[in-house]
Amino acid sequence: MENSTVVNASTQNQTDFFGDFLTWTFTEKDPRYLQPFWDLRLGYEQYLESPLFPVFISVVFYFGLCLPFCLSDIFCTNQGWYKKYKIQPDKEVTKAHYYDTLTLTFWNHILFIMPAAVGQWIWTPSTPLPDLAPTLFDFLWHQLAGLFIFDFQYFVWHMSHHKIRFLYRHIHSVHHRYNSPFVWVTQYLHPWELVVVGFLTTTNTWFFNSHPLTVWSYMIVSIVVSVEAHIGFDFPFLLHNLDLTGNIGGSPKHDMHHQKPLTNYQPFFNHFDKLFGSFCPPMSAGGKKSKELQEYEQIAKDCKKNL
Ligand SMILES: [Zn+2]
Ligand SMILES: [Zn+2]
Repeated sequence: MENSTVVNASTQNQTDFFGDFLTWTFTEKDPRYLQPFWDLRLGYEQYLESPLFPVFISVVFYFGLCLPFCLSDIFCTNQGWYKKYKIQPDKEVTKAHYYDTLTLTFWNHILFIMPAAVGQWIWTPSTPLPDLAPTLFDFLWHQLAGLFIFDFQYFVWHMSHHKIRFLYRHIHSVHHRYNSPFVWVTQYLHPWELVVVGFLTTTNTWFFNSHPLTVWSYMIVSIVVSVEAHIGFDFPFLLHNLDLTGNIGGSPKHDMHHQKPLTNYQPFFNHFDKLFGSFCPPMSAGGKKSKELQEYEQIAKDCKKNL
């Protein structure tokens, strides 16, 4: 009798907690933890509401994030940690590689990103800036949902641009000029690929009518994901090394896509690659091959022999 009372009380507590959580979430009783951060906008509204602001933060954040990795490839190649964490330690990043990738990046920005920004400036209305910050729940789930949607969209786009010869040859092959990624390969893209990726990233948060703070944060998260995929390093603090479920691909997985282009199409997660049989176990820091990767390569070799 006593036991059943204890169990009932505990179930009641759980129900109350869950009910409170839902009430808190859906009736917008969130105490707006992000309000102090959102209030930092005060006094700068005329810049932040400009349609040029998202483009400005994307470009500045992209180059700012790439810079430390670029400097590592130039100045740190003789340091112990460099080869220890490099995924393909025997591949060198040369001056010619820099010249080539930065030249294309420069022209892509001048010929496509800048005109798109000017068009946005002329034709897009100013962003209304609400007084209240987004709720923490909306801020997080809109971005996570945006990432899942982008991950699926890019998986379909990416796979089709490998499977359809015409699309690969004329568009996506540009990005595959390097089989050992380094940071400037991130935007080493055919202009059409750059436009598609930019369009998908910009419009995904429109589905949820997201708060401007959520939109800007999502754009930064998308840049982090795409740059991380191409850094060519497998540092222990990266998200995929902290993920116990094995569902986040990270830099090793995309690095393997550049080595074996018919594998690992998903940019961030692994589930569709596993479902459609395109997953290849990645190589980790220092070029280490896991047992799964050795088995994968052995099976691929045997299949070739039997053809
Ligand atoms: Zn890539
Ligand atoms: Zn590809």
